[in-house]
Amino acid sequence: MKDKKQKILIWDIESSLQEVLCFDTREQNIALDNIEIERYIHCISYKWYGEKKIHTISQLNDTNFKKHIHSDKYVLTEFSKIISQADIWVAHFGVGFDIKMFNGRLLLSGLPPLPNIPHYDTCLLARSLFKLNSNKLDYLAKQLGYKGKTENAKGLWRKCFEGDEKSLKQMAKYNRNDVDILNFVFEKMMPFIKIHPITPKDAKCKNLICQSSNIEFRGYGYNKNGKYRRFQCRECSTWGSYKI
Ligand SMILES: [Zn+2]
Repeated sequence: MKDKKQKILIWDIESSLQEVLCFDTREQNIALDNIEIERYIHCISYKWYGEKKIHTISQLNDTNFKKHIHSDKYVLTEFSKIISQADIWVAHFGVGFDIKMFNGRLLLSGLPPLPNIPHYDTCLLARSLFKLNSNKLDYLAKQLGYKGKTENAKGLWRKCFEGDEKSLKQMAKYNRNDVDILNFVFEKMMPFIKIHPITPKDAKCKNLICQSSNIEFRGYGYNKNGKYRRFQCRECSTWGSYKI
């Protein structure tokens, strides 16, 4: 018996280069008033967990794209509608990058903020749960026997910044592959995660993408609230406990 009530959104951003003026190519600190065009978002790809299709919202979908090649307002508006429907979102280093980048763009574009949505950050989780050589998405996916990130053509970001449509399509493809890899890594990591943003009640698997009732009781545990019956899911091996 599986119960997949939560809508879990797996997503990833591709942001642009920014245009700056500087004296030296080795210059590390660019004066803020030398920023000509602030970075923005080329595209966002996403997938609802459990569904096959990976969608992309790209600058190219904006009917006025050719008039303002550095605008991401369309991407921001459309993705706001999508992420607002999610019960939980998943992104790799999403807490440090994707959600901040998105929120910053909303602020500067005069768009409304997002609701507070619980999330899983697979990068921060990998960092806290495992001692691996790298917590990069590409590395994690390959170590788990899956494909890695797509190799990008040289100068792709520059061409996207210049509004080249072919390159933006290529960027969207790269973006969708990242979402596919993220979905794979997230699924593999889930049974190891002990703290979830939402906890299924009763004797059910705590892994939100499983939630099976096919569990096996394996001993007892105690905490400040009393005695718990410990169990393991027969389908995904996730551990959980049930207050008695
Ligand atoms: Zn399970």
